[in-house]
Amino acid sequence: MKIVVCLKPVPDPKDWGKLKLDPETKTLVRTGVGTVINPLDKHALEAALVLRDELGGSVLVVSMAPPDAGPVLKEALAMGADEAYLLSDRAFAGSDTLGTAHVLASAIEALGGSDVILCGDETIDGGTAQVSAQVAEFLGLPNLMHVSHIQAQAEGPFVVHSQVEQGHLVVEIAPPLVLSVVKELNTPRYVTMMDILDAEEKPLVTWDNEQVCAGESCVGLADSPTQMADLFAPPKKKQAEMLPGTPREQARELAGRLRRLGFC
Ligand SMILES: Cc1cc2nc3c(=O)[nH]c(=O)nc-3n(C[C@H](O)[C@H](O)[C@H](O)COP(=O)(O)OP(=O)(O)OC[C@H]3O[C@@H](n4cnc5c(N)ncnc54)[C@H](O)[C@@H]3O)c2cc1C
Repeated sequence: MKIVVCLKPVPDPKDWGKLKLDPETKTLVRTGVGTVINPLDKHALEAALVLRDELGGSVLVVSMAPPDAGPVLKEALAMGADEAYLLSDRAFAGSDTLGTAHVLASAIEALGGSDVILCGDETIDGGTAQVSAQVAEFLGLPNLMHVSHIQAQAEGPFVVHSQVEQGHLVVEIAPPLVLSVVKELNTPRYVTMMDILDAEEKPLVTWDNEQVCAGESCVGLADSPTQMADLFAPPKKKQAEMLPGTPREQARELAGRLRRLGFC
């Protein structure tokens, strides 16, 4: 069974305080901000590894990202993926969700297709939850979201649980298919030092647009059907002031201010 995981590198939540908006270019300034695997994509990768262990086959990771995303893909290889493909080309820059999905779907086709494509339900940065359904549409495959349980078999349909507000749907769905997963599906495995060393031997391939064969339609900023009209940080309505001094001095100053304002 050939399993592809779509994995997006996202800004490390630990560094979100360092993210800034460039008011001129209307882009995020990521200087000093680390990159990690989108959390739900780790759950998708874990599910892929379990499926491979149950049914045999291989797990390929694809990621459309800038060239410096290599370490994130190395982590996916260390978790157990067999091959990783970094889809990186200036032509892809500024793609909207449709452009992103088109590039991912084209790469999956260039890889010879897949029996199972696993995504996260959504990312922690863009968070549109559109890409997996769009990948499925481009490939003409069925797509199920909010997946919290997968019971797979070598022949015949998978039994898949999809979370809904008051419980879950139980769906029979046969490969080839696209599933996007929620965190309740599993617990991603820890990576050991041996896993990290093993990952050095595995293929991490960078593909440009020529290898991806995405062409130019709907890819990149100019050809994306949605365009960013503006990007701004909301104005700060509250301001914090740190009072100097010892806790006792701070408490006295605070009490004085509250009294002067008529609160006590
Ligand atoms: C006009 C416009 C311009 C943009 N320009 C830029 C830009 O210059 N640079 C930039 O970084 N972003 C840009 N974006 C944002 C970009 O479109 C999104 O980062 C991307 O489409 C993914 O959307 P999302 O994060 O909402 O994914 P979701 O739909 O929330 O993701 C669902 C799942 O799809 C998969 N997935 C999503 N994205 C990827 C990916 N890249 N690789 C592999 N798997 C993926 C993952 O499994 C993920 O869990 C732009 C968006 C718009 C509308």
